[in-house]
Amino acid sequence: MTTATLYIVATPIGNLEDMTYRAVRILGEVDLIAAEDTRHSLKLLNHFGISKPLTSYFDHNQQLKGERILNALRRGKSVALISDAGTPCISDPGYQLVRDAVAEGIPVVPLPGASAAITALSASGLPTDIFTFAGFPPSRQGKRRTFLSGMSALPGTLILYEAPHRLVDTLTDIRELLGERQVIVARELTKMFEECIRGTVSEVIATLSQDVVRGEVVLLIAPGTAAPQESESLEHVLIRLMTDGSLSIKDIAKQAAMISGVSRSEAYSEALKMKNDGFKRYKNSGITDG
Ligand code: SAM
Repeated sequence: MTTATLYIVATPIGNLEDMTYRAVRILGEVDLIAAEDTRHSLKLLNHFGISKPLTSYFDHNQQLKGERILNALRRGKSVALISDAGTPCISDPGYQLVRDAVAEGIPVVPLPGASAAITALSASGLPTDIFTFAGFPPSRQGKRRTFLSGMSALPGTLILYEAPHRLVDTLTDIRELLGERQVIVARELTKMFEECIRGTVSEVIATLSQDVVRGEVVLLIAPGTAAPQESESLEHVLIRLMTDGSLSIKDIAKQAAMISGVSRSEAYSEALKMKNDGFKRYKNSGITDG
């Protein structure tokens, strides 16, 4: 295969049966495979009978190696990027290489497959409509606490990667800064000792404190229950809807309740009060009590 293309190839996060047919084919066809740890990846490639030139591409040689990989692509070679496990670029090296390839008009083709974050989320039972993946929290406590504070008002499920020996410390900070939420520790996914530890932060800390946590973990945190900080105030919503002039009081109350998060009856009585107080624009707008 000699058309300049950068393939981003996901590999299993534990269970080799999760390798895709397409990944095996493309890795067997490219001119060069760039791997985070060539010795580690050799085991995977040997397992699938793939023998191709390998080069290393990891955090601390990204600039130098990235340029060499781009040179190979510029010469018309095809290159596959893999990481030790899962999807490259997701808490793994790769995004600068992709960025530079895109900037030069080199085709970048993703091959989907396992990623620990999405695998854990799919089995979590936590809301999946909105979620934030934030990778590894900083290891130093001060920075970690700042990082977690910044997450406290985010809507949806929060997904983190964490080293097993830091898990209890991180959960302790989460309890203090994000509150007593439901959490899930998804451990050793797709492997022999796969397990999901579920409960409130305190319950999970108690479970984990009984034993040394081993293996790889994804930490999922349920959305907070606090009202979103940026929701529009009832008064502001009512003024806006009344100024519009096309709605009945009933419809104004219905919409205002939805937008500002108060009950419909509260919105209705507040709207009526504003009307009775002589809301000028309202008076001119022809809104009916409907
Ligand atoms: N690029 C990878 C991906 O797409 O999932 C993630 C790489 S990141 C360096 C490695 C982290 O992913 C681990 O420390 C752990 O938090 C998580 N992880 C990877 N494999 C896992 C597994 N089998 N079970 C649980 N977590 C896993």
